[in-house]
Amino acid sequence: MTSFSGIIVLFGPSGVGKSTIAIELAEQCSDLWLSRSWTTRQRRSQESPQSYKFVTEEQFLAHRDAGGFLEWDEFLGNYYGTPIPEAPPGQDVLLEITLDGAEQVSKKHPQALLIFVDTPSKREQKLRLRQRGGSALNRRKRLIRSKLERKLSKKLTDIHVINDDLVQTVNEICEIIRTARLKAQKPHP
Ligand code: 5GP
Repeated sequence: MTSFSGIIVLFGPSGVGKSTIAIELAEQCSDLWLSRSWTTRQRRSQESPQSYKFVTEEQFLAHRDAGGFLEWDEFLGNYYGTPIPEAPPGQDVLLEITLDGAEQVSKKHPQALLIFVDTPSKREQKLRLRQRGGSALNRRKRLIRSKLERKLSKKLTDIHVINDDLVQTVNEICEIIRTARLKAQKPHP
């Protein structure tokens, strides 16, 4: 990381708690604007209607074809996409997306701050996925995909955070963001 573009990307395997971390970060870390993704996935029973903009495949593809997404991906049969960010002035954009999405953002904005978030163990990940519900097949597919994500993440960033304790994780990421902002303000020698 040499500079900072005002875009922060959280990515990592399913079930690590990225969306909870992102919500907490937006509340606790100053000047962060959390993007609301579009998805064609069905809303889970306990999930807030605000967690995504839930759309049909037709709506998603029309928006994509009109150039409305900063990045988009297909994940286990559903589409997910980040609409072109409209953050208020002075706010940095916070995204919580897949590895492929993180790669797309990184290509368009090489100075984006990429943070890989993982669970302390696979056992813990399995437990978190089970608590969230969904079919056994879907959980298994998410676990298989996680292997690849862990392997490929190293190519994208060397900032890895283990989400063992939510409060600690949020503090740690907030500190990473603060440091990146400070570095970006420093004049080049
Ligand atoms: P879930 O179905 O568990 O809500 O999300 C599945 C995966 O899609 C998660 O890894 C989540 O971070 C990712 N995701 C959520 N929104 C977006 C988005 O806008 N773009 C991309 N590429 N991935 C997203």
